[in-house]
Amino acid sequence: MPTQPSLPRPTPPPAASYANTPYTPAGAAPGSARPAPCYSTTMESIFHQMRAASRQDQNPDYSQRRRRLDALHRLLMENRKALTDAVAQDFGQRSAEETQLLELFTCQQSVRHARRHLRKWMRPERRGISIWFRPARAEVRPQPLGCVGIVAPWNYPILLTVAPLVAALAAGNRAMVKMSELAPATAQLFAELVGRYFGADEVSIVEGGAETAQAFVRLPFDHLLYTGSTRVARLVLRETAELLTPVTLELGGKSPVIVTPGFPMAKAAERVMIGKCFNAGQTCVAPDYVLVPEGMEEGFAAACRAAVEASYPRININLDYTAIIDDAHFQRLIDCVADAKKKGATVVTLADKAVTDPSRRIFPPVALLGCNASMRVMQEEIFGPILPILPYRELGDALAQINSRERPLALYLFDTDRQRIDHVLDQTVSGGVTINDTLFHAAQDNLPFGGVGASGTGQYHGREGFLTFSKLKPVFRQSRFNGAGLLQPPYGIRFKQMLRFLMR
Ligand code: NAD
Repeated sequence: MPTQPSLPRPTPPPAASYANTPYTPAGAAPGSARPAPCYSTTMESIFHQMRAASRQDQNPDYSQRRRRLDALHRLLMENRKALTDAVAQDFGQRSAEETQLLELFTCQQSVRHARRHLRKWMRPERRGISIWFRPARAEVRPQPLGCVGIVAPWNYPILLTVAPLVAALAAGNRAMVKMSELAPATAQLFAELVGRYFGADEVSIVEGGAETAQAFVRLPFDHLLYTGSTRVARLVLRETAELLTPVTLELGGKSPVIVTPGFPMAKAAERVMIGKCFNAGQTCVAPDYVLVPEGMEEGFAAACRAAVEASYPRININLDYTAIIDDAHFQRLIDCVADAKKKGATVVTLADKAVTDPSRRIFPPVALLGCNASMRVMQEEIFGPILPILPYRELGDALAQINSRERPLALYLFDTDRQRIDHVLDQTVSGGVTINDTLFHAAQDNLPFGGVGASGTGQYHGREGFLTFSKLKPVFRQSRFNGAGLLQPPYGIRFKQMLRFLMR
């Protein structure tokens, strides 16, 4: 672990970390069809403590919520270097600049955004009322759900822990976060920091692998936000169905890019390769494949190569280029390229004198030409620096290709024709869209973020995050003088006249 700077609170409460805690099997009887869940007694007891605290204090006021957001902000600001080093340790190689821009800056922005808007978000909202019920009043009061769970993946371990946490805390909840076992240094540090900056019944971090995660999602949270793969999301839904836990799913998928004829190719290639090469393609909203007008495939690959060489010269020794998280993911990418090659694709190296380096898990970007539907790269989310470049004849063909697949998490369009842009926006369904660039929609605190269909359910970020972690309680206030008496039994002649009038 990197050396940590001295931390501000002198007598921290016990850090809520569960790595290596003993597990007590509970739940299913021996021999039953369902495997016994692997509960950590500590994890359970922390959950019950948090849940009890949330029932004691059902609606933390503005100042309490603000204090928690301030604590999160301080945690990020005062431990930048330690957090950046921990992420680098997990990846083996991750540039400090990339971590600071894509994780710490984005997190700080979202805390600041929440703090700025919190009073407004918390305010009950007056709603109109139909003439038949006047002069009563109606309002919607956002209320905390209670104790919520967050499951985070490894690819942006700080961002994908903090962003949901901002929403949960702003909405007045207490939160437990299960961080990824593939980013253990970050999870360990974050657990320690959370123990110092928050009370044990406010926020706690859970470390551990799939078994811990499985036990975690079986806790009866008031809401669960899961970020990760579609495959595991299916398991999560199975587990949470029994408890009727409300779930937000932030998943991945194959996010397409459409480049239209006439759009400057070098510009499009540069923006696509930035989106693809950040974190070596291990980004949920990274461009997955590109559709270019037929005949432009090779030219586009050459433009991508020029863009990579400009951004990442001598890529094998370039410390700005991130390593692949572990050997299994590295091998998966090698297998995907081999599979495509075997089935007829042409592999175009996008970086000069680049070699795949298993010892440091450096996987230089490649483009694939001549791909077809039988290849793994066209069936799975790539989640790495491999870019299939596919041709289309008419825009309608490109849209048909996109619409024949699962709904993507993101869609990118490079175009300057307003009508055509509107047409593409109208004729596709995706989690979000950036036009003439990549990734940026995901960094906007004023836009909701979330997938659709196989790429996710629900949304968060900014106000939508606050709403996701709130119960919107409708309240009807009857007035002293009202006509309710006219609408109740006994149903005499006056009632029937009234009903005829209402239903005319
Ligand atoms: P993953 O699904 O393997 O793991 C995510 C989390 O789920 C980890 O904390 C893991 O411990 C936990 N988990 C594992 N097995 C579990 C089980 N049986 N029950 C409950 N939880 C379990 O995903 P990953 O490899 O860490 O992340 C990559 C995926 O996440 C990609 O598909 C990517 O697109 C997606 N992703 C989506 C977003 C988004 O915001 N939509 C962001 C980042 C990553």
